[in-house]
Amino acid sequence: MNNTSMNKDIENALDLLRSGLLPDRQALTALIENDDPQTADILVKEADACKKKYYGNKVYIRGLIEFTNYCRNDCYYCGIRRSQSSVSRYRLTADDILSCCEAGYDLGFRTFVLQGGEDPWWNDDRLAALVEAIRKKYPDCAITLSAGEKSRGSYQRLFDAGADRYLLRHETANPCHYEKLHPADLSWQNRMECLRDLKAIGYQTGCGFMVGSPFQTADDLARELLFLKEFQPHMVGIGPFLPAAGTPFEREKAGSAKLTIRLLSIIRLLLPKVLLPATTALGTADEDGRERGILAGANVIMPNLSPAEVRKKYLLYDNKIATGDEAAESVAHLRQSMADIGYQVVTDRGDSLNT
Ligand code: SAH
Repeated sequence: MNNTSMNKDIENALDLLRSGLLPDRQALTALIENDDPQTADILVKEADACKKKYYGNKVYIRGLIEFTNYCRNDCYYCGIRRSQSSVSRYRLTADDILSCCEAGYDLGFRTFVLQGGEDPWWNDDRLAALVEAIRKKYPDCAITLSAGEKSRGSYQRLFDAGADRYLLRHETANPCHYEKLHPADLSWQNRMECLRDLKAIGYQTGCGFMVGSPFQTADDLARELLFLKEFQPHMVGIGPFLPAAGTPFEREKAGSAKLTIRLLSIIRLLLPKVLLPATTALGTADEDGRERGILAGANVIMPNLSPAEVRKKYLLYDNKIATGDEAAESVAHLRQSMADIGYQVVTDRGDSLNT
């Protein structure tokens, strides 16, 4: 592709995005590959204006509770995959988790996100009882689960117990790419079916992917964007891929914060009402990543509410930030750093505007 046609593609893509229309795969690829700072500025400004139209200057916070790092899966990228023998495994008890919620509630959190590996000990009976206990104690809070692939029946049971939202990144919209990131016992078809089940049950549903995961191309990223537009998730979680020692991908190149930020802006323009976190991985890849993400279209931050002694054990990737502003105790500081860039952290469930 020569320069002139590339510029035309980009202008075309920007025009369509501005009018709420969907550029084609080629135009999206050109926008993703483009590295021009002026285009980056335009995207950030337009994404910010688009978000403000629906959400003003509000930033929603979610208290992230990493409740178990046991996992039966062996995803090639993940630092807590089954084969990581060096990981010191832990599992919070229901009481531990309720204490995290209590501390979080006092700090102003009105959403609790329970994330973990696929831990068979946390079966439906135990998880449903936990969700019921949180629901009973905190009727004004949203409960988000992020505990991997389950049957439709299990998802329904957890929904009936009181869970409102579910995060399950699809990881890639390209089934061939999925096979390069996962062993053969995990299937792209099943993951996508899980997402459809979650939405059909009535969960506010989040999907997402890593930016710069091994073998990912710009065309794959364009396919991600087309998939998001079609699936219409309530939430989208994206962050740069970061290598984790001991995994098959330990020597792979990390994804870039800059490209992640560009994608956040494009996603905001494609899905104006979406709930879009500036993730911990983005904050790890770039020390100002979370602020830059918020300025570029993101509107959610998920500080860590897990007990301090287990934070260093939930290492999905190397160098995960775990002592500074990402910690829920620093919420006062987070409020200040958001105020400094013109945003207000609110005490609010922050539900999807699409329900
Ligand atoms: N077991 C749950 C939670 C997985 S961890 C599930 O299957 O949904 C949450 C997300 O962290 C994953 O979906 C993946 O996108 C991301 N992640 C895992 N390893 C990572 C790495 N090395 N770099 C960046 N993100 C990673």
